[in-house]
Amino acid sequence: MRKKRNINIQGKFIICFLFISLVPLAISILVSFNSFFSILEEEAVNRLNVVADSKANQIESYFRNRRLSISQIALMSDITEAVSKYSEVYRTRGINSDQYKALDDSYRPILTYYKKNFDCDNLFLVSKTGEIVFSVNDSDNHQSLYEQAVHGKSELANAFISVMKTHRTEISRFSYDWVSDRAIVYIVAPIINGPEFAGAVIARIDDRVFEPFVKDYRGLGQSGETLLGTLVNNEALYINDFRFPGYNAVKKTVSMGEKDNIDIQNAVQGKEGKGLSVDYRGMKVLTLWRSLPLSGLGMVIKIDTSEVFASGNRLKNVLIAISFVLLVMVVTMAVLISRSISNPIKKLTLTAVRISEGNLNERASVIADDEISTLASSFNQMADRLIEAKNKVEEEREKIKEQKKMLEKVNHELDSFVYTASHDLRAPLRGVSSFASFLIEDSLDKLDDEGKTYLEGIRRGANRMSKLIDDLLTLSRMSRINNPYEQVNMNEIVSSVLERIEFDIKDYNVDIIFERNLPVVNCDKIKISEVFLNLINNAIKFSSKNNPDRPRVEIGYNDMKGYFDFFIKDNGIGIEPKYHKQIFGIFKRLHSEKEYDGTGAGLSIVKRIIEDHGGDIWVDSEYGKGSVFHFSLPKNV
Ligand code: ADP
Repeated sequence: MRKKRNINIQGKFIICFLFISLVPLAISILVSFNSFFSILEEEAVNRLNVVADSKANQIESYFRNRRLSISQIALMSDITEAVSKYSEVYRTRGINSDQYKALDDSYRPILTYYKKNFDCDNLFLVSKTGEIVFSVNDSDNHQSLYEQAVHGKSELANAFISVMKTHRTEISRFSYDWVSDRAIVYIVAPIINGPEFAGAVIARIDDRVFEPFVKDYRGLGQSGETLLGTLVNNEALYINDFRFPGYNAVKKTVSMGEKDNIDIQNAVQGKEGKGLSVDYRGMKVLTLWRSLPLSGLGMVIKIDTSEVFASGNRLKNVLIAISFVLLVMVVTMAVLISRSISNPIKKLTLTAVRISEGNLNERASVIADDEISTLASSFNQMADRLIEAKNKVEEEREKIKEQKKMLEKVNHELDSFVYTASHDLRAPLRGVSSFASFLIEDSLDKLDDEGKTYLEGIRRGANRMSKLIDDLLTLSRMSRINNPYEQVNMNEIVSSVLERIEFDIKDYNVDIIFERNLPVVNCDKIKISEVFLNLINNAIKFSSKNNPDRPRVEIGYNDMKGYFDFFIKDNGIGIEPKYHKQIFGIFKRLHSEKEYDGTGAGLSIVKRIIEDHGGDIWVDSEYGKGSVFHFSLPKNV
């Protein structure tokens, strides 16, 4: 069975309204959010692209210019002279010699001028054999670049060796200088004397030169920034200061393969792309990464997603607030509408309940002119008709009561009449019978044969009539006399009945099947004894004549719901189904007296007794197949 859903009209309305209003709202908000957010992202990426293009251009042009400038310096004749002289003196006399000082006096001012003009951190001259023979800042050591290259430690030495081979100006890879705590790069330009490689002029540049580029935050909002990095020992090294100064104290490197800072890792590997990442502050950022081939740097342009999507988030908050207001409105409307529908229905239901409790004058109120009011007025009309119908039923009931009373009175009078008549008829009948007997005894020989036959007829008729009158008296006695009901053990009743007809049982050799398992029933003991006596007698009577089998009578019962079903079963002549009802009528018989003795009153007496007990009686039988007489007695009489 399907389980009833326990949702009232109000609940259903709320669910329905919420579904109708919120589902499309949620879908449209979701769709518009998604497209709005992707528009914001696209716009931000475009902006970052413009910034990235411009920064890349600026940095690459800077390096291109530096490379050109240093190449031009290397071509100067005084530089060619200086490098060969410094190389010679460095090799033959050493750096502390008077000759070296004399050379310094004449060349240092020019070289210092070049350094200043070139705007670099330091300027060196390197001999063709790789010794740093001159440095504007004395602090730099004069170790052989060859040696450094052999040990593979120095980006400068690597660049120098390359320049020596190609005779072309080269920019070294970036490296980190722990002394100055800065990222540095060298631009190495070959000095060619005639056809020969005479040495190199080298400019050292540190990360400070990028400051103007990276600290220009135009187009980057409040949180955007440019980060430059280079790959050093399998770590991406940020070479410029962060926009958020609090983070500059920490080590500015990212191990390759780390989960966050994907952008700088890709950039220093020469890759290009865009996406979402987590930066050095642990903040979510929208980021672009590029490589700058000339300088060998990786560049990242990023901006916080919170800033990119700020307007989206603001819109989200507004929409959430609107949705909430809408929700409240929808629920309120659903409650109001459902109440306007459910309240009249509730009232109508209450009226119906009161009417069903018997308060027929209760009426539903009809206020508005809508469907529910129509229902209420139909309901009222129905209640009116109910009252009319009830009144009619009452009237009919009264009539029936009166008729019943009358019938009872008539019945009673009839019973009394039957009783009186039978009783009064008895004495004269007995007289007729006695006189007929006297005549037979004393004067039979005075009569001829015809007279004898008539006399015999008078005697038989009188006897039969006497029996009929006895039966009528019994029937009327059954109605008139009511014994008190008592708890009766049916086994005892049946046993005493069987005792009373013991001779018949023996005479006809009847096989009685009775297990003494009958229940105790609240009933009129005498009358129920009469019932069993009649039915068992009939069973024996109609099974003991012309029966090829031994007559068999079984007495038993079935325990049914609310009543006991007693039965008396025989293997006698049986009854055609068309007589099953008729045989319970007074004096109804299916055989002549000659065939089977009896008056035909027994079953009608039994029927009256059973019906007085609130039970029923019926027969199951077919002609020639025995009969089963059933009678029921209620368990609670
Ligand atoms: P009676 O036995 O005096 O004839 P009943 O009222 O007891 O009158 O029975 C009415 C008729 O019902 C019987 O005449 C008989 O035809 C039929 N009848 C009753 N009991 C049986 C039975 N056990 N088997 C066959 N017929 C029966």
